Amino acid sequence: MPVALSGTVALLAWRAGSLSRSGAGAALLVGTVCLTAGRAWGLFLVLWFVLAALASKVGQRAKAAATGDVVAKGGPRDALQVLANGGVYAAAALVALLRPEDAGVAAAIGAAALVAAGADTLATETGTLSKGRPWSLRTGSFVPTGTSGAVSVPGSVGMLLAALGFALSAHWVGLIPMSAVAAVALAGVTGAVVDTVVGAWWQARRWCPSCEGETEQHRHRCGTTTVHYRGVSWLGNDAVNLLCTVAGAAAMGAILRIAIS
Ligand SMILES: [Zn+2]
Repeated sequence: MPVALSGTVALLAWRAGSLSRSGAGAALLVGTVCLTAGRAWGLFLVLWFVLAALASKVGQRAKAAATGDVVAKGGPRDALQVLANGGVYAAAALVALLRPEDAGVAAAIGAAALVAAGADTLATETGTLSKGRPWSLRTGSFVPTGTSGAVSVPGSVGMLLAALGFALSAHWVGLIPMSAVAAVALAGVTGAVVDTVVGAWWQARRWCPSCEGETEQHRHRCGTTTVHYRGVSWLGNDAVNLLCTVAGAAAMGAILRIAIS
């Protein structure tokens, strides 16, 4: 039953253009693990995905115009993107499945990972849609919209509201108790902040020799193959997104440890 259900959702998302073929395969895997762990795990995953996909769809054309030169991947999410966002959550679902006595802790940690990814996604979407110019956390100077590690006031407000909204929806579907909502939101914000800091200082930046401009694309939209020129070469967008969810989960683990001791 979980396979049929997550297969249907993955198929619909693929048909709607939200997932690539490999992305649909990864979503089938993540979705099946989560639905097997329980209804709340599956519901929060679906809710998260719908909200993130909606946010990406809103004003897609305007955003493509604003960030076309800068952002690494647009369009359907592939397997790496799905696992970077949902892998930690699925691992937590697996823990809940295998160790029912730890299901409550696993739910809070898993929810924090997905809240971090959602807060980061919504921060980027609101920051990109708003008119304000973002600045680099590292240099303090204005940078093009969509640059990794850039911050703006609307983006930061969007991030905080999204963290709270996603944490509340985790409670709403029955994954976490109301008493955990604030802690999960805080852990999610921590993950999104780590994402921004790593994005500013260490994320790989590439250079298009033809356009003489910075980009995250391996093959620039002008057709030229770009070269790595700054940051850790293997630390691409997916690795940073994975780090965001790991940091959210770790922050929740630390909060739980402090709360229990
Ligand atoms: Zn170019």
